[in-house]
Amino acid sequence: MRQNQPRRPAGLRTDEPRRVRTVGVLAHVDAGKTTVTERILYLTGATHARGEVHDGTTVTDFDPEERRRGLTIFATAVTCTWAGHRITFIDTPGHVDFSVEVERSLRVLDGVIVVLDGVAGVEPQTEAVWRLADGYRLPRVVFVNKLDRSGADLDAAVASLRRDLGAVPFVVQMPIGREESFVGVVDLVGMQALTWPDVDACPDTGPGTVRAGAGGMKVGPVPAELVEVAWQARRALEEAVAERHPQAFEAFIAASPAGSGDPRPAAGRSLPDDVLVAALRDLVRSGEGVVVLAGAAYRNRGIEPLLDAVCAYLPSPVDVAAVSGTWQGRRVERGPDPAQPLAALVFKVVSTATGRLTFVRVYSGTVEKGAGVMDADTGRSERIGRILRVQADRHTEVPFAVAGDIVALIGVKGARTGTTLCAPSAPVLLAPPTVPAAVLSVAVEPRRPVDADRLVQALGRLLDDDPSLSVRTDAQTGQTLLSGLGELHLEVTVNRLQRDHGVEVAVGRPQVAYRQTVEVGVHGVTYRHVKQDGGAGQFAVVTLDVEPWPDAPEGAEGFAFEAAVVGGAVPREYVRAVEAGCRDALADGPLGGYPVTGVRVRLIDGATHVKDSSELAFRIAGRSATVQALRRCRMRLLEPVTRVTVTVPAASLGTVLGDLAARRGRILGSAGDAAAGVGAAMVRVSAEVPLAELFGHATVLRSRTSGRGTVTTRPAGYAVVPHDVARAVLGVAR
Ligand code: GDP
Repeated sequence: MRQNQPRRPAGLRTDEPRRVRTVGVLAHVDAGKTTVTERILYLTGATHARGEVHDGTTVTDFDPEERRRGLTIFATAVTCTWAGHRITFIDTPGHVDFSVEVERSLRVLDGVIVVLDGVAGVEPQTEAVWRLADGYRLPRVVFVNKLDRSGADLDAAVASLRRDLGAVPFVVQMPIGREESFVGVVDLVGMQALTWPDVDACPDTGPGTVRAGAGGMKVGPVPAELVEVAWQARRALEEAVAERHPQAFEAFIAASPAGSGDPRPAAGRSLPDDVLVAALRDLVRSGEGVVVLAGAAYRNRGIEPLLDAVCAYLPSPVDVAAVSGTWQGRRVERGPDPAQPLAALVFKVVSTATGRLTFVRVYSGTVEKGAGVMDADTGRSERIGRILRVQADRHTEVPFAVAGDIVALIGVKGARTGTTLCAPSAPVLLAPPTVPAAVLSVAVEPRRPVDADRLVQALGRLLDDDPSLSVRTDAQTGQTLLSGLGELHLEVTVNRLQRDHGVEVAVGRPQVAYRQTVEVGVHGVTYRHVKQDGGAGQFAVVTLDVEPWPDAPEGAEGFAFEAAVVGGAVPREYVRAVEAGCRDALADGPLGGYPVTGVRVRLIDGATHVKDSSELAFRIAGRSATVQALRRCRMRLLEPVTRVTVTVPAASLGTVLGDLAARRGRILGSAGDAAAGVGAAMVRVSAEVPLAELFGHATVLRSRTSGRGTVTTRPAGYAVVPHDVARAVLGVAR
């Protein structure tokens, strides 16, 4: 995929799986993710005029909420073609509050472009997204952006990749000119100069006049004054590759004149270009290293070689391992083969005014218009109405989609983000990523009472889009409580209610989703539900043990029920009713009505009456027995805790630690200076802080560090609340 090769003619079939790339762009905020994406779409003709598709918004950021924040929150999939390849960009939201969206979108990628700011190098969120990409074993190319800025330095950025991320960078370009006079790069694979004319940073050519490939790149010989350093850089690249790649090593040795003191020719290739490219491809795809390119997206420099690198080095769907799932406890593997049974994963559901778009990645098989598929999560069958390939602002309808494709389905009614759609004859559940528990709630109420029904509908749609949201009605106040992963998550959701669904809502103060657990249990609590005063009576007697369940699986509901009744004292159909009654009771525990988790209930005895027993009677008895038992247990309040990582100037460390301590933070560790990864005199501290204490933390941190401090957060489960704090919570909560 070299620049001097002719591009394939337009209209060529690009749906061969080998020519498909599914990638995401990841970056620290402001590094240039939006600009890079936008320039790519412009260059590939996926949009007409740069960044002007929807009322002046950029293509992937069509949500006004998103623009306002400058954060990319809602994922979309945009397909473009380049050099005979079909590249789909999945927009990955960058904020940690949206971890479900981030994780779902990363899951369907085959590779990633990581954008670095050429001045700042690796930044805290670069590290966060890098680790996420590690988790999904995603091959990477790195684009060092903003080389036109004053202070930009490719070498320093590459050094920070090594130092802060432990990456093995293969630098395949060398900048021509520095800062203001950065005009292009030497391509160290083709040993040629790629330059871009010094046009206005963002020429407005108007819709229709710009054609695909019209980036203005010139290919020419390496400038004379750079020839020597360019060959040195080429040799450094060859050595770095040969060191890690056996075939490249063989070729490298073979090319060196035997017996000579210096094994390398003074100038010239030791590795043929095709061997070098093939070796780089292997190293990138296996994750042993990353290819590094340079450019200035804003000035439209470096985009063509970046696209070429995506095609050359990142894997296609057929290069990646088979996807695995389960069915009825058995492991099922599916290869990226159109002939295998269908398995597709929903990674995004977008409710629009005209209907639901269900975005899927097809992992195996073929999905056809009009075909019946199975929702493996619910067992329900669904019919595919239409299949769309999304090209930014327009959709192309296609008759079918095959393994490796990313498409939007219309007509699928029940699927949510994370749902598996499969062939009814060969069911499989693709391992669903775990959904973090919602930890923060706000009461939402329509400003106009007539909007009550619309609010319910709008919330339903938002829940389909985002499984980390939940809604319930407070039994005591009757309020509708919306729960999510954090302050920002809820704020964005409420804004979407108003903006996208036109429902004006009044929002209460955020409330932390406390839970409670059993510290010391009780045995043999009996409840008699007996009403036999004429007419149809009610009779149910149950005896329960209630015990702590300290190793309840994380994320599960944290309730285990066991029936240990002897001699059929409680028939099976009533046992189920007792269990349902327990659940009722656990939803509303004795401490302030918060839900109970980490508890085991054992039904040990009971009694029935031939005529007067019923499921209802046993449900009531089960519930009442559990309520009584819990009142006699020793209970502890639990609160959500957050893992907080702050990066601050060393000089403000004292006040920042003081602030964390005042918020009941538990310091887990710190790293200073070089190890902190953001240059000298910055220190990184990680801590666990109760969510309840975290309100306003980011603002305080910024003011105490004169704006230099940054913070990232992620949910870290639940922890026991100290007694004095619990008393305060329960005193004011209800
Ligand atoms: P994102 O937050 O990562 O999506 O970053 P954006 O693409 O929104 O870019 C952040 C800022 O950097 C914007 O003001 C861009 O105009 C600017 N920017 C992006 N690329 C370049 C570049 O190559 N050179 C310069 N000088 N500025 C750039």
